[in-house]
Amino acid sequence: MTIVDTRTPNPKYFIKGATGDWEMVLGLEVHAQVTSESKLFSGSSTEFGQPPNNNVSFVDAAMPGMLPVINEECVRQAVRTGLGLKAQINKRSIFDRKNYFYPDLPQGYQISQFQDPIVGEGKIYLDMGEEGEVEIGVERLHLEQDAGKSIHDQHPNMSFVDLNRSGVALMEIVSKPDLRCSDEAKAYINKLRTILRYLGTCDGNMEQGSMRADINVSVRRPGGEFGTRCEIKNVNSVRFAGQAIEFEARRQIDILEDGGEIDQETRLFDPKTGETRSMRSKEEAHDYRYFPCPDLLPLEFDDAFIEELAKDLPELPDEKRARFINDFGLTAYDASVLVADRESATYYEAVANGRDGKLAANWVINELFGRLNKEDVAVVDSPVSAKQLGGIVDLISKGDISGKIAKDLFEIVWTEGGDPAAIVEERGMKQVTDTGAIEKIVDEIIAGNPDQVAKAQDNPKLVGWFVGQVMKASQGKANPQAVNEILKAKLGL
Ligand code: ADP
Ligand code: MG
Repeated sequence: MTIVDTRTPNPKYFIKGATGDWEMVLGLEVHAQVTSESKLFSGSSTEFGQPPNNNVSFVDAAMPGMLPVINEECVRQAVRTGLGLKAQINKRSIFDRKNYFYPDLPQGYQISQFQDPIVGEGKIYLDMGEEGEVEIGVERLHLEQDAGKSIHDQHPNMSFVDLNRSGVALMEIVSKPDLRCSDEAKAYINKLRTILRYLGTCDGNMEQGSMRADINVSVRRPGGEFGTRCEIKNVNSVRFAGQAIEFEARRQIDILEDGGEIDQETRLFDPKTGETRSMRSKEEAHDYRYFPCPDLLPLEFDDAFIEELAKDLPELPDEKRARFINDFGLTAYDASVLVADRESATYYEAVANGRDGKLAANWVINELFGRLNKEDVAVVDSPVSAKQLGGIVDLISKGDISGKIAKDLFEIVWTEGGDPAAIVEERGMKQVTDTGAIEKIVDEIIAGNPDQVAKAQDNPKLVGWFVGQVMKASQGKANPQAVNEILKAKLGL
């Protein structure tokens, strides 16, 4: 592949070395398990967590004479994903045998796609906050079989093999080397996962191994020639990806600054030490001896097949984000947070529809998400429904309750449930906007604190003390704006 550098070096991402600045270059190969009932070339179930070797057909166990049959749903999922990545869909693609020996790969080869993948170039946009939006190129997406699992910790001198995962469909999604710092790499994994989840083509559960990343890392002088890369295999969390990249870039810089050279090698990240270590060098790299799989015809479909899938795609995160910014007046950042998963976006929309979108975003992001995170509750299990939170937002908008009381109300709804408007009514939480009542409290406080009055008249900033007193006396129910105005008038400020 010819590599084009699409990025302008960003000094914020430079790494200081003893001999000057360095820049990372990163490219990711993400393996995403396809969401499908059955495997890529057999009818066995893909269900996770089954007893070992429960989901294994003769095809998955590679019995002689068994023939693979392509699962059309997996093809649909790959095309959907390609469409979601705004990628070139290849109407003709080829399955190849990638030959290697692994105890958990009974065929002795993996059926994959090499020269002619089902999906070609696409792109993923990252919202990098202050650094703005970054476009990352996708090189290709191809379909391949997953391997089984060897189990080494069940017997003192035997290994076992579980072939449940053998033959499950994977999409390998390869980025261009367009990423320039660990935050971008983390954002890339998160964004790709979001897109896959919106599409329903991969569940994105990295802890269960249904999504994992091989991370290619090299360093260079800012904007200079690309350096030799190392590939860190099978990273299974976003946090580990960040740690592995930081460690690896530093390791390479230290070697280069000592006058050494980088060996192109495959490395493993150890979460216990936060370090990467060599797994195999390029010299030992496999010669995969790829060749077209004689058991499978080229995969071909027509435009109608693609169009039918395109028609049924859900609204994707980028489009949803643009719509939220446009319809609800949100900042790009808030919109990104809200569309990060579909459930959050749906919740937000239910709160924001027909209301002040910004106020709704504040409440959803700060109060609700803050609380859900703290208690480790998913948005779909939120004790405060979108309808209830909408009710709270309405009470604020109407001026019935202050922001402070709204937080108390949120707490009540979270723990006890109920209709917010009814709670406010029953418990007398309504904001006092009746100026007569506020004036009465103000008068009492002014009369009782002549010293403070004198001080405030010298230094108008001290009005804050009076506001505090009035709020306290009204149990937080006085309308703060009215309180301010009345105080200023009465104190002559
Ligand atoms: P291979 O098939 O040997 O893994 P590829 O050319 O397909 O090689 O690249 C694999 C990954 O490595 C891609 O994600 C690509 O973006 C990335 N990559 C290529 N060159 C570099 C480099 N110099 N530094 C970092 N990543 C790179
Ligand atoms: Mg590779």
